[in-house]
Amino acid sequence: LIERMREYGETIFAEMTRLAVETESVNLGQGFPDTDGPRSLLEGATRNIMAGVNQYPPGPGRPELRQAVSRYRSRHYGLDFDPDSEVYVTVGATAGIAASMLALVERGDEVVVFEPMYDSYAAMISLAGGVRRPVALRRDPSSGRFTFDPAELRAAITPRTRLIMVNTPHNPTGTVFTGAELAEIARVCREHDLIAVTDEVYEFLTFDGRPHVPLASLPGMRERTLSISSVGKMFAVTAWKTGWVTGPEPLVRAVRTVNQFLTFSANGALQLAIADAMDDEWEWIQRQRRALQDKRDRLAEGLTATGFDVNVCEGTYFLMADIRPLGYLDGEEVARALPREAGVAAVPAKVFYDHQEEGRHLLRFAFCKKDEVLDEAVRRLTTWH
Ligand code: PMP
Ligand code: GLN
Repeated sequence: LIERMREYGETIFAEMTRLAVETESVNLGQGFPDTDGPRSLLEGATRNIMAGVNQYPPGPGRPELRQAVSRYRSRHYGLDFDPDSEVYVTVGATAGIAASMLALVERGDEVVVFEPMYDSYAAMISLAGGVRRPVALRRDPSSGRFTFDPAELRAAITPRTRLIMVNTPHNPTGTVFTGAELAEIARVCREHDLIAVTDEVYEFLTFDGRPHVPLASLPGMRERTLSISSVGKMFAVTAWKTGWVTGPEPLVRAVRTVNQFLTFSANGALQLAIADAMDDEWEWIQRQRRALQDKRDRLAEGLTATGFDVNVCEGTYFLMADIRPLGYLDGEEVARALPREAGVAAVPAKVFYDHQEEGRHLLRFAFCKKDEVLDEAVRRLTTWH
């Protein structure tokens, strides 16, 4: 293995899911729903396969899907992208992230990224030969939500900074960046002429009426922002591994140049079905959002009653819980012991940080599960403790 990838072992999601299966635990570790997406979507995919949509789609994606992506970004956010040159379909958001980093980060370039960070960012920045400059998201004592200090963001910028990676709604903290926070990020990007890559896979999973605001919609940002999203979270089909990148033509062209040699294209039959669902299943998306908000509340109440100190969650599938009130300090130790001791799997937030001490005391729990599964996890945790 090349030297710059040697710090990366097995991903935490693979490790914790394996442990959960071995111990027959309730798996609140890896974030995947335990119910399916809309029926019309599943039936559409089946129909397409049986109708013979089984050969390579065009590299940039089926035109029907690129047009549907262009329509929803316009309808929801007032952002207009040319479906032919400014929308590109990838094998999940993961491939979109990988291709973006490989296409835009030169060896030695610095990439500003908020920590805790989704695990593939660090690995892909390393693979591209870039250097991470983490800016901490910390729990604000008055609001209980995770946010950043604008002075720390500014201090992270150097003459080598090329790009900033922004994930909102944020995995794992559950923060949805406000207009003011995004304005701060946008100002820094404009002043230092940075490219922004945004991971918006949880764009439709914001709660309590909070809007998701794409960074690209702020003044001066459309021409410097690549936005990445995925059907996995939009329609609760994480195995479908279909994502899309939108942005100005030169940035999308860069991604396309790299991605044509990574995966060439994504799937065919699924893309067509996703395109239809993007036009027809908005009610389903709203129902999913309401259901997840109730699940968030259900798990937060249960964990709080068990003694965890649960953080504010504004969006995503995840709650962060502080283990210190239970008398523990190291979330990694607890997460490794929990499946065997309690029959529940969670993810230690520590692994999402460069400055690991910042997240040492935090566990991430996924709440995208049936109510009875959440209740069983809480029952087991109550008995354990
Ligand atoms: N980004 C974030 C923040 C995620 O949580 C995930 C996991 N769904 C991904 C990217 C990867 O998405 P996909 O499964 O579409 O590759
Ligand atoms: N995005 C999911 C999570 O954060 C996991 C994806 C994966 O397993 N790589 O749990």
